[in-house]
Amino acid sequence: MQRRKFIIDTLTGLPILLMTPALLSSSCNNGDDNEPNGKSVIIIGAGISGLAAAKKLKEKGFDITVLEAQDKVGGRLRTNRTLGVAFDEGASWIHGINGNPISTLAQQAGMNTFETIDDQSDACYDLGGVLRNSAIYDNAETELYSILNTLKNSGNATQSFETIFNNLYPTKANDRLWKFLLSTYVTFDTGDLNNLSSLLYNEGEEFGGAEKIATNGFDTIPNFLATGLNILLNQRVAKIDYSDTKVKITHNGTVSEADYVVVTVPLGVLKSGNIEFVPALPSAKQNAIQKIGMNCVNKFILTWDTAFWDNTQYICYTPEVKDKFNYFVNVKKFHPSVNALMTFAYADYARQTETMADAQLINEIMTHLRDIYGTNIPNPTNMLRTKWQANENSFGAYSYTAVGTEIKHFDDLAEEINDKLFFAGEHTEADYFSTAHGAYLSGIREANKIIEL
Ligand SMILES: Cc1cc2nc3c(=O)[nH]c(=O)nc-3n(C[C@H](O)[C@H](O)[C@H](O)COP(=O)(O)OP(=O)(O)OC[C@H]3O[C@@H](n4cnc5c(N)ncnc54)[C@H](O)[C@@H]3O)c2cc1C
Repeated sequence: MQRRKFIIDTLTGLPILLMTPALLSSSCNNGDDNEPNGKSVIIIGAGISGLAAAKKLKEKGFDITVLEAQDKVGGRLRTNRTLGVAFDEGASWIHGINGNPISTLAQQAGMNTFETIDDQSDACYDLGGVLRNSAIYDNAETELYSILNTLKNSGNATQSFETIFNNLYPTKANDRLWKFLLSTYVTFDTGDLNNLSSLLYNEGEEFGGAEKIATNGFDTIPNFLATGLNILLNQRVAKIDYSDTKVKITHNGTVSEADYVVVTVPLGVLKSGNIEFVPALPSAKQNAIQKIGMNCVNKFILTWDTAFWDNTQYICYTPEVKDKFNYFVNVKKFHPSVNALMTFAYADYARQTETMADAQLINEIMTHLRDIYGTNIPNPTNMLRTKWQANENSFGAYSYTAVGTEIKHFDDLAEEINDKLFFAGEHTEADYFSTAHGAYLSGIREANKIIEL
């Protein structure tokens, strides 16, 4: 039930693609030659991609400045500890620990992790709190993987995953178990099924090995990477003028200039047009910004004085409404003293939650839990929530292959302009888009381009 799981499973039996040696050595190489080289770089955004680029460039003697719109670093690696437990509002999992640069970074930064076990078929409930038969669940899961291997053979450039799926499997489209499986295995990993490419829905490479969830906060990694870097917080970039030899950046009404600039703002920010580029970005890049999708996932953590739920890692529920609070991560599994559940909303339902008051949200979530565990269970003592769609620092959660997206569009987003304007961020990594490791690798990639000039 972790993101990208279906890709791992569909890759079974195939050789696992490993990171190229050049990328791996550069991402792990701390051997710096710190001598100033007289060249300046401004990095826009202090998410993991921007921080990775900044750290690497600083080690090579560049004079770096990071401009970050928010009052802290990390971007979508953001942890809220106000309830006394680390609630990761963005990324939670290291997807596949083998060869994954985030595994190494987690060790260096002191990010603790817990291996999550796929036991969702053990506690999967239908309406009325009826425990679903785990063999039927497992068979449906296996069938889903097989469908995901072949659906693209019926796909085309203009129709969505949902359209093709519903044509091929009309009886499954309204089946609650299938709605649940599509939501948690596909929509969560990618994006809105009615806009997901029927050709490219399972693009991207994956690291092998276990899935591990951060237990003391994913922000441990950006905080570690940020150490010793020149980062200016609360600096919102509004204009990037690359018409002259030096690139001029307008932020909070002041103009700074540098020899090179690395733009790492999320795809949602690029789509919003809130940053003016002078001259306008090349048409290929503008087209890619438009064609690649930006999804929405919202996360919720709820706490109670005592636990009333199953002692499994995941508790699943198969409601009529798709993408609505249909699975719960049992936080108690990795924090035994904490009585908390984390749940999710995806795609349009996720966007809808952003208009709901806390009380309304709690009511909706509790309706599901009360259907499973009975009407006597109490309301939570606290709840935290995210609103990724409305968040002006990202306007969405992560990128996905929408109808009309081509894989070359990710490369178009990564393309540098005139050897002075560079682009990083998860949405620029054709192999690993939508992930923390993809974002990290993109920052290293762009730093290497500048170093090699
Ligand atoms: C809900 C959710 C769940 C996720 N789950 C996982 C997961 O389990 N595992 C995983 O690997 N990945 C996951 N991801 C994806 C992962 O978090 C991202 O891919 C990664 O953090 C993106 O890093 P980035 O550097 O590309 O962008 P960001 O982290 O978004 O950094 C961009 C920075 O730019 C700043 N910025 C924006 N506009 C401006 C401006 N105008 N001026 C200056 N600064 C600006 C932002 O504030 C931000 O700090 C999840 C993401 C979300 C939202």
